[in-house]
Amino acid sequence: MDPSWNPFRCAVCGSTDVESVRARWEAGTWTTRTTGYVAGGVYTPGYSDCQGHWHSGHYAPMGGWGVQSSVHRTGLATVLAPPERPARESTWQWWLLPALGILAWMVGAVDWLSMYSEGEFTSLPYVVLTVALLVSVPALVALALWVRRIEEEADRRNGFAVLRHRAEMETWMRLVHCTRCNSVTDPATGRHAPAELVREIL
Ligand SMILES: [Zn+2]
Repeated sequence: MDPSWNPFRCAVCGSTDVESVRARWEAGTWTTRTTGYVAGGVYTPGYSDCQGHWHSGHYAPMGGWGVQSSVHRTGLATVLAPPERPARESTWQWWLLPALGILAWMVGAVDWLSMYSEGEFTSLPYVVLTVALLVSVPALVALALWVRRIEEEADRRNGFAVLRHRAEMETWMRLVHCTRCNSVTDPATGRHAPAELVREIL
């Protein structure tokens, strides 16, 4: 941190012409004024009258010396916008795997019951199905536990993302923007960056 740094000054150029980033963003406008020749014109489009004669359009140039205001609305307001709220990572779709597994297991169990009721205890399909149904129970439990772990990890990442966004918002709320050099300063830490790189100091 620069020792001459002062919270009411721009940390880059020392200008006191600073305003809160939030106010700049809310206003959405940043105006520069330059004195010079302002050029423009009025265009009258062509038309066809009731006799069918075509009157072509014409352009009337106009201009004069004066003060020109340039409004940088999208530019500055866009780069100074608050940090975006992170999208929540969803995990519900992972539960389709154990759900499909349970469905398949139930279809198998219905088959098994019909074989059982017909007394086909020695047939090969009956033996295979019995083994498959027994083995798939722990496999389904393991699958459900695995999905639960994926869900817990996503919850943790979602929690971190929310905390990080909150911290970025707190920093963003105290940032000031310098009109002279278009840089942004964090008065609490003295960190600074060009306006378009404001994300780097959040
Ligand atoms: Zn400055």
